[in-house]
Amino acid sequence: MKGETMFDMQDLRTDWTRAEAEQIYNQPFMDLLYQAHTVHRMYFDPNQVQKSKLLSIKTGGCAEDCAYCSQSARNGAQLSASKLIEVERVLAEARKAKEAGATRYCMGAAWRSPKDRDMEQLEAMIHGVKELGMETCMTLGMLDDNQVFRLRDAGLDYYNHNIDTSERYYSEIITTRTFADRIDTLNRVREAGMKVCAGGIVGMGEQQMDRIDMMLALATLEQHPDSVPVNMLIPIENTPLADVEKLDPIEFVRTVALARILMPKSHVRLSAGRTEMTDEMQAMCIFAGANSIFVGDTLLTADNPEEDSDQALFDRLGVTAMNAGCDGSR
Ligand code: SF4
Repeated sequence: MKGETMFDMQDLRTDWTRAEAEQIYNQPFMDLLYQAHTVHRMYFDPNQVQKSKLLSIKTGGCAEDCAYCSQSARNGAQLSASKLIEVERVLAEARKAKEAGATRYCMGAAWRSPKDRDMEQLEAMIHGVKELGMETCMTLGMLDDNQVFRLRDAGLDYYNHNIDTSERYYSEIITTRTFADRIDTLNRVREAGMKVCAGGIVGMGEQQMDRIDMMLALATLEQHPDSVPVNMLIPIENTPLADVEKLDPIEFVRTVALARILMPKSHVRLSAGRTEMTDEMQAMCIFAGANSIFVGDTLLTADNPEEDSDQALFDRLGVTAMNAGCDGSR
């Protein structure tokens, strides 16, 4: 918001306590929605939602063991591994995404971390997508300093690295890298001057306190992530979380609202799991402060709503897509 007051600055705190986060999350639902929407209006046009498009640039065969993921070579999911795709194919898809109204193009590779031999191709993808006038985001796993600098120098705008869940629950979900490894990568990206996209997944059998602690971990980073994707688990057959109990949708909305209140200026993104949400639930999430979505009928390997149904929902809600170069902030 332009012309910040002392009160607004206080809202950008990074010293939130667990007691405060718990009190926010657990207050009566209507009070929570009201607070989240009030904070949202202070910083953003509540009727604008940013559209991002995600492309899998290298699918399957990943060495990590994330329990929710169909791309892990260690899970039983039957997804065959592909190579890093050609730059031209990425650009052709990016052009289509731009025509469909996406302003940010996210490229995801199923890697523990990129190999140095891949860097040139990744840099060419960044250059090409930026030339189309879109923002660029990549998610490639852990990065060393050299890789961070190369991506930054190629012009990468955002780097996505999710913390997935709370530190406490983390080892139930991933054992091949630690929560601290994730935070290290996020800090490297931030220190290099790129924007940070970091969020997590709910509905993985975690407790309420894990959802609260996950948001608290993000909100107490030195600087809030610029984008906070909130995913609802899509259970995938043959993965360890295939039969996990479904999360109460109200808990999901509470998580979105908490993200909005703790990180008032961040874009909160409804990511995986929208196919399982009713329009009414998505509308409630937008009211609670979600202001970014992924468009397109797939998200890496998971289903996503058809673009027509997204547009129909936008029309019914009187919501418009943010233009390229506009972040929807007031
Ligand atoms: S979530 Fe990413 S890092 Fe984890 S197994 Fe899947 S592709 Fe690999």
